[in-house]
Order: sequence, then C-alpha cells, then structure tokens
Amino acid sequence: MNVNYSIKKIDEVLNSLRDCKHFFKLDLFKAYLHLQTDEESSIIQTISTHRGTYKMNRLSFGIKTAPAEFNRVIDQILNGLSKTIAHFDDIVARGKTKDQCSKNLFACLEKLREYDLHLNFNKETEKDQELAQIKQEILSSPINSDYILDRCILFRNNRIVIPKTLQSTVLNELHSTHIRITKMKQLEGRYCIWKNIDKDIENLVKSCKDCSSVKHSPAKTPLHHWDLPINNWDRIHIDYAGPFQGFHCLIVVDAKSRCVEINVIAKLT
Ligand SMILES: [Zn+2]
Repeated sequence: MNVNYSIKKIDEVLNSLRDCKHFFKLDLFKAYLHLQTDEESSIIQTISTHRGTYKMNRLSFGIKTAPAEFNRVIDQILNGLSKTIAHFDDIVARGKTKDQCSKNLFACLEKLREYDLHLNFNKETEKDQELAQIKQEILSSPINSDYILDRCILFRNNRIVIPKTLQSTVLNELHSTHIRITKMKQLEGRYCIWKNIDKDIENLVKSCKDCSSVKHSPAKTPLHHWDLPINNWDRIHIDYAGPFQGFHCLIVVDAKSRCVEINVIAKLT
C-alpha cells in the first residue's frame, strides 16, 4: 500500500467547486469495505470472536493506511472524469449548467458501475420518520409486512417508496415533459409510490399552465394491433424516450424476441 498518498484537504475540495452552480452529491455505501485485500493483509486483519477467528478479506475501518489507500483508489477510478471530485466516500459531480451537471453525473455513475462501487441511497429514507419506522418493523418481522427492503431501499409492490424530502423532485421529473395525469400515473405506477401520490400528481397537473392549455386532446382512433412476426428482426420498433436529466434514449425493440437495445444520447439532432 502506498501510505504516502496525500488526501485532499477540504479547502482544496471546496475551491474546486467554485465555478459551478449545479451539484450532485453521491455517497459510497460502506466505503472501505469496497476494497479487497490480498492474502497477507487479510491475515493481518484477522479478528477474534466468540465463534473463532476470521480473516477479513476487505479493507476494514481503523487500519492506519486505510484513509490514504481508499482516497488513492477512488481518485484513480474517477481520474479523467470532468468536474467530479471525491473526498473519502463523498463524491460530487458538478456543472455550470443543469445539463452539464447531469452529463458529468451520468459519466460518474457509469464509472462507479464499471468498478462495482455501490452507493448509499438510505439517508433520505432514514430522515422520513414514517419510513424509518417501517424499516425497523421489516427488520424485526419481515414476513408480516407489505414492504420489502432491498439493499437499504424500501419497496412496496415492486415500486420504490419515495421519502418525503424527494417527493417533489420525483414529481417534477415525472412531469418534466408535461405528460398529463393518466400518463403520469402510469409511469409512477411502474416505478415509485408514496402516500397521496395520486392526489399530488392531480394537483401538480391542474396547477400547470402548459398542461391546461393542451387539455382538450384529439378524438380517439381505434387501436391497431400488429401481427406477430415469424422471425427475429423481421420487424423492429424504434423510438426516442426522454428527456430524463438532460439525456434522451434511442430505444429499439425487436417485435418477435422482445430484445431491447438502448442507446443513451445527449442531444437530439
Ligand atoms: Zn404541465
């Protein structure tokens, strides 16, 4: 291990943020435990318990060289990414504009996925008293609950339960292209849930000027069903989806196999 790696001072980190207006802060889940140790180091980290001794095959907290080594590895992983900086387990992706910030965030997330680094999505749920209590209940008796807990994220009927502090952000994201009540409820129905979500969607759409100006939709035409093709790739369906946080996706679906290809693109031309 390189014990001489110098950890960034907090002033350096703050100074690097000064030109930007938009920020995204990410928090790595159980920081040091992401790093595997070699055989020799895992033996040094052996712990003694009432069930016997165990060697630790992950970098554990309290090791003198851990902070420097952890910062070195994270800096190396993020090296080359635009406007992205880490200080221990906190990572900030930033930009002068919202689009630039989103672009840098996506690049950072891609990098974290490549190296199998996991993020902590737990903090806002913990701040929400009601959800924090539900979490405690699940931990004590998981079978009797309508909710499930997967990697610290609370789900109900396969939908993510959104904590109070993030509800308006999610609501605005759902409504970003002024999709109206029914469509929003369909989207929300697939991905997220909170108490009174339907009411919140209705209120938002009713109070939106852009939405009410296109209130009267054209007359409905009868639905046409496609015939099922015989071979794969006989027919494909192509469409754009988005924008989502400044990005569009080009989606190609093969009608026979239902195989999906998705390409993320920054700007539509
Ligand atoms: Zn609207």
